[in-house]
Amino acid sequence: MKIVIKIGSSLVTSDSEIVDLSFLKTISDQINKIKDAGHEVILVSSGAIACGMKTWNLNNRPKEIEKLQALSAVGQIGLINAYQDELKKHGLFAAQVLLSHEDLKDPIRSVNIKKSIKNILSLGAIPIINENDSVSTEEIEFGDNDQLSGDLAKLICSELLIILTDQDGVFDKNPATNQNAKLLNEIEFLDLDSLEIEFGNPGEYGRGGMKTKLLAAENYLNSENRMFIANGKSKNILLDILSEKRVGTIIRLTN
Ligand code: GLU
Repeated sequence: MKIVIKIGSSLVTSDSEIVDLSFLKTISDQINKIKDAGHEVILVSSGAIACGMKTWNLNNRPKEIEKLQALSAVGQIGLINAYQDELKKHGLFAAQVLLSHEDLKDPIRSVNIKKSIKNILSLGAIPIINENDSVSTEEIEFGDNDQLSGDLAKLICSELLIILTDQDGVFDKNPATNQNAKLLNEIEFLDLDSLEIEFGNPGEYGRGGMKTKLLAAENYLNSENRMFIANGKSKNILLDILSEKRVGTIIRLTN
């Protein structure tokens, strides 16, 4: 199975380090096991801007796009190097791919992206994709790569899209402000409107949130594939999803 895993900005940095190496270690350990089980893994990782902010000890995200692009250009290097180092411990290689939404909208460039991912996978390497922030600004403004991951997963016909975030999944109410918020383990995409879900604000480091994740679902889902939204900090979350444990929120389009 071809699995696209999207990692949100809030997961890749920690208080004490620029890149949260223990998080990258647990993710790389799980990727290694998933590959051993015969699956192909494509990562979409945010966090370039967050790493750039950490480098300059910025607690508040700058408003100007130009500053964010510059922070991303610095942060991306540390981010990809950290992935490379952790994957290498398992004899795996990271392959950096930077994309813009324009690339995915253009038919010729889309074919090139598809071929390129296929060739990276046949080398046995792990494609690690981020938005090319120096030339494209959609994910900086709205998405934290949520929509990019949905569009890419659709393009390469991935059977499973896993969006890892710092929440346990989709709740009926905002869990940050409501103690009685209930985790929804399964959502039929077409029932979303009737569920009356409340959405919280995106975090300071990234621009995502549940809304952009559900927009990604709208673009990606068909009757043959599935998408999960789950907590990346939960131990063995990827392995739990693959062994069909009741974790996170699965979103399907069955009707
Ligand atoms: N491409 C951006 C990054 O890697 C997306 C997340 C953001 O806007 O903070 O940082």
